[in-house]
Amino acid sequence: MKRIGIFTSGGDAPGMNACIRAAVRTALANGLEVYGIYRGYLGMIEGDIVPLQSSDVSNIIQRGGTILKTARSDEFRTPEGRSKAAENLKKFGIEGLVCIGGDGSFKGASVLYEEHGIKTIGAPGTIDNDLYGTDSTIGYDTAVNTVVEAVDKLRDTAASHNRLFIVEVMGRDAGFIALRSGIACGAEAILVPETPTYIDGLIQKLREGWSRKKHSSIVIVAEGDESGGAYQVADAVKKNFDKYDVRVTILGHIQRGGSPSAYDRVLASEMGYAAVKGLISGKYNVMVGRQGREIVYVPFEKAIKHNKELNKYLLEIAETLSR
Ligand code: ATP
Repeated sequence: MKRIGIFTSGGDAPGMNACIRAAVRTALANGLEVYGIYRGYLGMIEGDIVPLQSSDVSNIIQRGGTILKTARSDEFRTPEGRSKAAENLKKFGIEGLVCIGGDGSFKGASVLYEEHGIKTIGAPGTIDNDLYGTDSTIGYDTAVNTVVEAVDKLRDTAASHNRLFIVEVMGRDAGFIALRSGIACGAEAILVPETPTYIDGLIQKLREGWSRKKHSSIVIVAEGDESGGAYQVADAVKKNFDKYDVRVTILGHIQRGGSPSAYDRVLASEMGYAAVKGLISGKYNVMVGRQGREIVYVPFEKAIKHNKELNKYLLEIAETLSR
């Protein structure tokens, strides 16, 4: 393999730049040429592809977002779109790809291989941490830290006004961000899609807390929770328990932004490095993962199955400590 391409795809996540930097420099150090593909599959279809040198990735390790931009492409979901993308890759002499993205991006890469034989290795770039086979995805740690910082600020105002804040966090249909950030900021309750949500139980807990003179509270709700989200939880609480001044905060896209944490920068560097090393040694249709101290290569079809479990031990801890 002489020339590889690198792209970011799907939702952006802090640490993607650190991964791009690592992949580019690892490729160059191993005698490969590297091309950057802008805006994911969209840029692949449009031929928005440029050579990258080491200096092109200077001073980006600390920056959020992605210098290569990211996009979602409906055209790539069609065989015609993928043929255009493959033609462009062939025109540029690109023989292998590093894809930094989520499950959809990996699905796309698998189809591209089936139809056109183009080999891709993935690095998990998503704040949601919902890819199987890796303890953590690039951007997850930073997103959790962003939530914690925001909730700490809400606590100050909650405590001053006897308020109950219902805070909705991202995660799509997974509760990883909610559980970890909820423990880190001492939330009184954490509602996640992976476990049933009993609003009656929540109200009972809040009542008990109030009777123990706990006059401010934080409830973290994952956006995919069966309650329907923070507004629905707030309505139910207001109807049944009127002691608190109930407020809703939807943290939204601030969770995707910001400078990556040191943890995410190191993880992204490891993954970018391992992705290129993997391509060189003939691996493809696999995602780089970290399990404990080990870097592993997880087949795409396993990684994207959406069967990664929440840590039961952490769920237990959250339940015990919030009483
Ligand atoms: P995130 O987890 O942040 O949403 P993602 O990689 O899952 O990231 P998607 O929007 O699902 O984001 O996928 C990115 C792109 O991958 C899509 O816009 C589309 O071009 C391509 N893609 C997704 N699924 C498929 C598929 N089944 N076949 C072909 N291409 C696909």
